[in-house]
Amino acid sequence: MTIPPHFLGYRCSLCGETFDRDYAGYVCPAHGDLGNLDVELDYAAIGAAVSPRALPAEASLWRYLPLLPVGDPGFVGTPLRAAGGTPLYRATRLGAALGLTNLWLKDDGRNPTASFKDRASAVVVARAREIGAGVPRGLERVVVTASTGNAGAALAGMAGAVGQPVVIFAPETAPPAKVAQLLIFGARVLLVRGNYDQAFDLSLAAAREFGWYVRNTGYNAFTAEGKKTAAFEMCEQLTAATNAPGPGWAAPDVVFVSVGDGNILSGLHKGLVDLAALGWINRVPRLIGVQAEGSAACARAWADGCETIAPVSANTLADSINVDLPRDGLRAVRAVRTTRGAFVTVSDEAILEAIAALGRDAAVFAEPAGAAAYAGLVQAAQRGLVRANETIVVVNTGSGLKDVKAARQAAGRPQVIDLSLEAVRRALV
Ligand SMILES: *Cc1c(COP(=O)(O)O)cnc(C)c1O
Ligand SMILES: [Zn+2]
Repeated sequence: MTIPPHFLGYRCSLCGETFDRDYAGYVCPAHGDLGNLDVELDYAAIGAAVSPRALPAEASLWRYLPLLPVGDPGFVGTPLRAAGGTPLYRATRLGAALGLTNLWLKDDGRNPTASFKDRASAVVVARAREIGAGVPRGLERVVVTASTGNAGAALAGMAGAVGQPVVIFAPETAPPAKVAQLLIFGARVLLVRGNYDQAFDLSLAAAREFGWYVRNTGYNAFTAEGKKTAAFEMCEQLTAATNAPGPGWAAPDVVFVSVGDGNILSGLHKGLVDLAALGWINRVPRLIGVQAEGSAACARAWADGCETIAPVSANTLADSINVDLPRDGLRAVRAVRTTRGAFVTVSDEAILEAIAALGRDAAVFAEPAGAAAYAGLVQAAQRGLVRANETIVVVNTGSGLKDVKAARQAAGRPQVIDLSLEAVRRALV
């Protein structure tokens, strides 16, 4: 576990100020809690050491260790080592319904704790151990995060895999399955009487008070670094699935992903920028951010063409993207702009319909925030934002088992019958 030499340092995403890799803060001090830092890598050194067709033979995000700003974390054979490496499915039937011939689904509900957040938490836990961060409780050091549920479950799971104590701040209204998951992984869970944004602020205040290491989405630069690995995977998997000629990888034309804090989108963008800088792909796909109509701060800033994200009073059944002030919103808006993508907003009803369609036509069970990405594609196809033969990847960010209440709303109720063949016959008409 040594910090790799290709990790050069950080650059402030707001003012461009640089910090060396020994910088002990999380954000650029000039902007309060909002000066998120980009990790800077030595692409020449990485390119000289590895090539796209000669990566470590590991079926997880650790396959891309040579492109990450952390050293080998060890813990081979544990869930921490199993994060990422999720399937990319060809969604022929789902695509046909929209007149699209080249639709793919990246199912990140298939992570160890069943959401995309495992990618960030695995890399943050590796980083925390590498630098010995946090205040010791017993022999181990505490890592904290605020979460709508999934980031906490991911941190609790990844940390639990290596015996590291964690404290999770989540809103009291988080879906019961997510809260149960936190407790099952042995986290200290503090449900706050407030929303995610308030939990975020309180967790930062508590971390300052007690000296804990902070995983919070966007605020910790290593979250985007973990999330970028999904971009690596989708390019590599597309290349393999289509036998695209080497030596590099084939990138999709368009990627759809839901946006709450904006960190998944900005993480995917970072991954694509890394690959382009290394010459492993020759173009960066258009990124389409999908927000719920009731939680659309980034979409508004994008539509207004501005660089300040005004908070909203968020209200959507897609709890994982129910965010007043996106903590990585500016990087997400910029990523959409520079890739000539778009933001799309979808109703809660459209999200429920998307859960049903993904299950029925692609056998992917998504939680509402995951299905939102597909709901965004449905709308984008209707509005002509995508072309019929483009290669499109839709990312499902979380498993439907996380929110059974929403699934039941989407799926309706099964028939209940008496114990007779006659009742079966009647039920089938
Ligand atoms: C966190 C999360 C998102 C949104 O990610 P952001 O980085 O907050 O934009 C989407 N879907 C699921 C299931 C999530 O857990
Ligand atoms: Zn700055």
